[in-house]
Amino acid sequence: MCSCKYCGRDIAYNATTCPKCGGQNPCDKCFITTACVDTLGLKDDCYEMTTLRWFRDNYMRSFQEGKSDVNLYYKVAPKIIQAIKNTNTADEEFKSVYNTWIVPSVKYIEKKQYKEAYQHYKDCILHLSNKYNIDLN
Ligand SMILES: [Zn+2]
Repeated sequence: MCSCKYCGRDIAYNATTCPKCGGQNPCDKCFITTACVDTLGLKDDCYEMTTLRWFRDNYMRSFQEGKSDVNLYYKVAPKIIQAIKNTNTADEEFKSVYNTWIVPSVKYIEKKQYKEAYQHYKDCILHLSNKYNIDLN
């Protein structure tokens, strides 16, 4: 699943047209999905993806700064993916993203440590943007 960038509803990760609103290429590539689904071969509805989606919709989207950060994420994530794919160690980097950022975030959410999960997520975006020289503005 991905969140349609036009209508915000959850649709199939590989959809080329949103079945709900008809938007073209509705899924912005997300490096969390890329790391989990493309690199590690996990399912799009695996535990990690489902947990993070829940967190996005029920915690981050519940306050203004969190909402802005979700939007920022969808803006920079495709650039981060492209930068990682341009290296010759892309698979290792996506696995490292999974172990360093995704797994700990999921653990925080399990323990209902939402502030920590949110901070960890922000650190992740900062770390990867700095590493690959991606402008956050
Ligand atoms: Zn849509």
